[in-house]
Amino acid sequence: MNLTEEQIRSLYGDYMIPAFNFSMPIMVRASGSEIWDINGKRYLDFTMGISVCSLGHCHPRVSQAIAEQASTLMHCSNVFCNVNGPRLAKAISDASFGGKLFFANSGAEANEGMIKTARLWGTANGGRHEIICFRTSFHGRTLATLAATRQPKFRDGMEPDMPGFREAIFNDLESARAAVTDQTCAILVEPVQGEGGVFPATVPFLVGLRKLCDEKNLLLLLDEVQTGMGRTGAMFAYQHYPMTPDAISMAKAMGNGIPLAAFELRKDLADLFQPGITHGSTFGGNPLATAAGLAVMEAFREEKILENVRQMSQYLQERLQFLHARHAVIRDIRGLGLMLGIEVGDSVAELVKSCREAGLLVLTAGKGVLRLLPSLKVTREEIDKAIAILDKALAKV
Ligand SMILES: *Cc1c(COP(=O)(O)O)cnc(C)c1O
Repeated sequence: MNLTEEQIRSLYGDYMIPAFNFSMPIMVRASGSEIWDINGKRYLDFTMGISVCSLGHCHPRVSQAIAEQASTLMHCSNVFCNVNGPRLAKAISDASFGGKLFFANSGAEANEGMIKTARLWGTANGGRHEIICFRTSFHGRTLATLAATRQPKFRDGMEPDMPGFREAIFNDLESARAAVTDQTCAILVEPVQGEGGVFPATVPFLVGLRKLCDEKNLLLLLDEVQTGMGRTGAMFAYQHYPMTPDAISMAKAMGNGIPLAAFELRKDLADLFQPGITHGSTFGGNPLATAAGLAVMEAFREEKILENVRQMSQYLQERLQFLHARHAVIRDIRGLGLMLGIEVGDSVAELVKSCREAGLLVLTAGKGVLRLLPSLKVTREEIDKAIAILDKALAKV
């Protein structure tokens, strides 16, 4: 454990497939909204592991639940039952639309489950299989979710695409209507496009998609992998809209750092699955991961998380509007809850770097967008600190 930074970077270069940027800080510990790198430099984290550690790094309730479960029963496989999974399924079902859940390990895998459900349902309902998805969407890195991800750069050279996906334009209801064929079985959409550039769906768009699905007998599948678990100020982002989906996927913040994901189906759709045949997962929903999930749901009940998201979202947006007025480089500020995007054009990379040097971690999204995903427990003081750093960074570009 006493390797130097140089030694670790050399191991990266020699033994790690270069899928990521290995020149970034090497992180060693974190607590709440703060994270420290190998040189002892402290950062205010407005990325939270891409909205994974949403309740704050090493949240005591979650860390304790993991520690206890780790010395009791970590895994027994889904050949057997465990006591945590069904309790977590009920907690999430109660906090959403009363559906049934399947646990998985990643966002892509949860989306795959929804896609398989749509095909099963389409097969049973007139032999249909096409799914409509939207330009600049992001649904994951597996082959089916890549085909649903309408950002061509992510699958360059990996063709042929998995068939059965058609593209429409996000927030353009007429384009979705035009994409429906006699083969369409479902529409897959993010309530707020995250990776694509932080674009919230408009109310007429999402409500219109619901009506379109009812009219054409299609399933409405919402990818809540990034928006789920309180990120937007509601437990799930669809709850801001007067509509109910047929299925949702969730992942990032479900285990506050432990890999845990799920898809939830309208109860009657669960009958499409036969035990041991239709779908499965070795690790999915194991006792350790679901212990973390239960602790997360308990935190939502006991720690007034959603209230803080709504208050701090308002405060952060006010402070960002103040920056907007001071810096011409800001073209737009948008988002929902504590999932906010600042459109800055070509200066985005320089801004991220200069914030990092000054001790603030932020993300990018889409084209020229700075993405802020602070802890759902972020404080006014932390926001003030982040704004001061952003203000200085913006003044330099
Ligand atoms: C991150 C993300 C995914 C992919 O999740 P993984 O856990 O990386 O597979 C899918 N959909 C959305 C909306 C995401 O933000």
